[in-house]
Amino acid sequence: MSHLDFPSKRAPFFQTVSDDNWNDWRWQMRNRLRTVEEFEQVFPLSDSEKKALDTPDHFRVEVTPYFASLINPQDPHDPIRQQVIPTSRELVYGGGLMEDSLAEDLHSPVPGLVHRYPDRALMLVTTQCATYCRYCTRSRIVGNPHQTFSGDELEAQLDYLESTPAIRDVVLSGGDPLSFGVSRLESLLKQLRAIKHIEIIRIGSRIPVFLPQRITTELTEMLGRYHPLWLNIHVNHPNEITAELAEACDHLSRAGIPLGNQSVLLAGINDCVNIQRELVHKLTYMRVRPYYLYQCDLVHGAGHFRTPVGKGIEIIEGLRGHTSGFAVPTYVVDAPGGGGKVPLSPSYLISMSDHKVVVRNYEGYIATYEEPTDYQPHNPATCTICQQEHLQDEVQEGVSGLLSDDRLAIRPEGFSEVHKRGATAPHRLQQDQSKWTPHKEDK
Ligand SMILES: *Cc1c(COP(=O)(O)O)cnc(C)c1O
Repeated sequence: MSHLDFPSKRAPFFQTVSDDNWNDWRWQMRNRLRTVEEFEQVFPLSDSEKKALDTPDHFRVEVTPYFASLINPQDPHDPIRQQVIPTSRELVYGGGLMEDSLAEDLHSPVPGLVHRYPDRALMLVTTQCATYCRYCTRSRIVGNPHQTFSGDELEAQLDYLESTPAIRDVVLSGGDPLSFGVSRLESLLKQLRAIKHIEIIRIGSRIPVFLPQRITTELTEMLGRYHPLWLNIHVNHPNEITAELAEACDHLSRAGIPLGNQSVLLAGINDCVNIQRELVHKLTYMRVRPYYLYQCDLVHGAGHFRTPVGKGIEIIEGLRGHTSGFAVPTYVVDAPGGGGKVPLSPSYLISMSDHKVVVRNYEGYIATYEEPTDYQPHNPATCTICQQEHLQDEVQEGVSGLLSDDRLAIRPEGFSEVHKRGATAPHRLQQDQSKWTPHKEDK
């Protein structure tokens, strides 16, 4: 692959900067744009943008000269501009928007560590980014230089991971973990690798997109020493794909790091099947696999970026079957209140009987699949995997648990109170109550 297949841009204002400076990530960081005056040296701002930038205590604004150069100044709706330059629409509160819509703080056994799923944890290692996305789901903490995590908090996070053997996959996020210096990041990776039960380390970073100069040989060589290490980048629009990003991804891939992409569905930016198709084609050309397409969270300041959920379904309908299977991301809604990621997809299952399944494909072709009549169910008693010690006393939670053991139902909150009416009837007393999944309030 040649990164020269993609454009490389520099705004006229930066033409006099030496190549050495331009390609130096420290120069890019030092020269980030944040004020009305700084932006207006590069391109004119609208009244709405000026108003937002002049509002005290607005969510932090910083844009690297590299990323600002990708903005087309002639286009007031430029997809890159809208992601990083605030407008007065960001100042609107209410309408069901929340500060911590994913209830992450509620799922944090220690500050900065979110343990939501059984076998993986999310570590918020910093609140700093190279550039700040206006729709940030963690704007409650991100960008605030006074809300960084202390050494003690990091110790507490590591202690929790150490004492929780169920965690086999740790996601480093923030903030942007690659905003750390190489030695600081290495010391963190070393500490995580010292914990035996952590199999996989993942990094979520938008640095390759905002500051591809940061992906130095020193960094990729260091990362390559801590495998298995995976990395997800965050690209929302094909205009973000440049020669510099392609080169950074190539270096990361050659260091043995599998790359994925997580994008957010954003109104007026990428809420279009054609844009999404071009995006996933360019990503896969760079050997980056589309991983998740997120529905925009119900977070303060991001209301104007939200699309109906139906838009996401329509996009997946336009991708699945129409292009390479591995180019299709999973569309997810991160359920408000801490429910976690819920995958949504068009339905391809049309109907079923006791011997046939009716399905449709992406073209609308409706087919039947004849079920086997002589299926011998899997026998856990003779299966070496099922017989493993650690699986014996484990209670499988959730809907999957309903399928695999003899529980009858999962009851919503308050269900038992409402349905106590027949509790004294003799036939009810016979029932084995242990079959009911215990609900929080019953314990
Ligand atoms: C997204 C997320 C993860 C990782 O989820 P995967 O579906 O495994 O990518 C883990 N913890 C939290 C809190 C998350 O939000």
